[in-house]
Amino acid sequence: MAPQTTHYLVSPALINFVYIICSVLFIIGIKMLGKAQTARKGNIISAVAMFLAVVITLFDQKILDAADPLTWAILGGSVLLGALIGLFAAKTVKMTSMPEMVALLNGFGGLASLFVAWSEYHYNMVEGYHPEYFGKSAIIATILIGGITFTGSIYAWGKLSGKISGKAQVYSGQKMVNAAIAIALLACSVAFVVIGDFHTAYILMIAGIALSLLLGFAAVMPIGGGDMPVVISLLNSLSGMAASAAGFVISNNVLIVAGCLVGASGVILTIIMCKSMNRTLGNVLFSGFGAKAGGGQGTVDGEMKPMNIEDAYYVLEAAQSVVFIPGYGMAVAQAQHTVKELAELLENNGAEVNFAIHPVAGRMPGHMNVLLAEADVPYEQLKEMEEANRILETADVAIVIGANDVVNPAAAEDKSSPIYGMPIIEAFKAKTVLALKRGKGAGFSGLENSLFFRPNTRMVYGDAKATINELVGKFKES
Ligand code: NDP
Repeated sequence: MAPQTTHYLVSPALINFVYIICSVLFIIGIKMLGKAQTARKGNIISAVAMFLAVVITLFDQKILDAADPLTWAILGGSVLLGALIGLFAAKTVKMTSMPEMVALLNGFGGLASLFVAWSEYHYNMVEGYHPEYFGKSAIIATILIGGITFTGSIYAWGKLSGKISGKAQVYSGQKMVNAAIAIALLACSVAFVVIGDFHTAYILMIAGIALSLLLGFAAVMPIGGGDMPVVISLLNSLSGMAASAAGFVISNNVLIVAGCLVGASGVILTIIMCKSMNRTLGNVLFSGFGAKAGGGQGTVDGEMKPMNIEDAYYVLEAAQSVVFIPGYGMAVAQAQHTVKELAELLENNGAEVNFAIHPVAGRMPGHMNVLLAEADVPYEQLKEMEEANRILETADVAIVIGANDVVNPAAAEDKSSPIYGMPIIEAFKAKTVLALKRGKGAGFSGLENSLFFRPNTRMVYGDAKATINELVGKFKES
């Protein structure tokens, strides 16, 4: 941290006051993101706080005081360009690609923090200003976390977007190699902090950057594509920690606070996701889950009984209580709007309609809530797992739309199953289960699902959107 001059265009007291306002707005915004009804407003509040924080930081760092036209042009141009790219990405990204977008954002957040720390040390060296141990520790921590976050996120983005194989890439001795990289990185970091000579420390810092970038790739490599949302949540948390460390580097309070908020909420989300899958974080990160080709594990005796659209329509037409259970297949088919239409037709026909939402249905937390909110399904109809399971006990029909693992009874009944212990939506309790899927494909876990073989289950094969469209057509004809 280079010494600063004392002249300010905006008084330090006002700057700190605005920082406090920004921090409070961040906390309110994040709190509001917790509920679908308030999430939009929460997002806007957080975005306004971030804008305010950026502007006041420009005053704080006395960048705007210079008032030279080139600085203004560079800053204005960068803000405009960034805003346009962000707007374009947000408008065009598909809902199923949201985790990829978050991965990219995390990655660049990590890279930005790395650059902040690097440039600070470079500046210190040029100015001949020796940072103390704490300053150097903050610099290397920012670089280390930022570097891992950047390449880890880019790799996760590649896996999720199908640019590289989504399978876990494992090889013998991988854990040893990764441990060796981590130890070398740690050694470089400690040496950087304790060595007084600028040039030697600079070389160690560059080595630290290279090793942290390498470790990001190496750590994400053995994790399967299906586990990427958990990894992304963890990387999100790391990007927050990197930002927080960068806040210490440039002595910026709001960056420290915002980074801590992102870091803590990312960790909480990661834990929630792991718990909902009944897996530990260690298992997600180190077990190589998804290294084998999926499908066909855990055989089930019996046969799946198909049902045609006509008969499925009659079953629904007679139902008094219907529960929709959406899963990843609904997201793939983009069937949410058609599902909403069918739900309305069923209500008009006198049925009570509910939606059972599993916390890890789909491929990102809240995936189903987001899709159904997009289709304007009333929030009161969205039931969390416990309540949904109570309703299912007396439901006439459960319509499983492209869900598989989250309704697999093996999670409750088969102790040898890899998903044993994962809480499920108990679709099997309904009098009749209509399972809408394209064929006999397995779910994310690659396991066979005994629900589809039960006497009260009928398989309605086809793309979920096409199937529901046909059912809607039947209701409209009648
Ligand atoms: P699954 O991935 O278990 O199953 C999805 C099913 O959808 C498949 O069996 C597939 O069968 C069917 N399907 C695919 N495309 C279509 C389509 N166009 N029309 C109709 N059906 C289709 O999904 P779930 O939502 O049940 O479970 C989510 C899984 O993801 C869980 O195992 C969870 O642990 C995991 N996970 C979730 C995360 C999250 O944050 N939500 C994070 C990480 C992992 P077929 O091919 O026959 O059509």
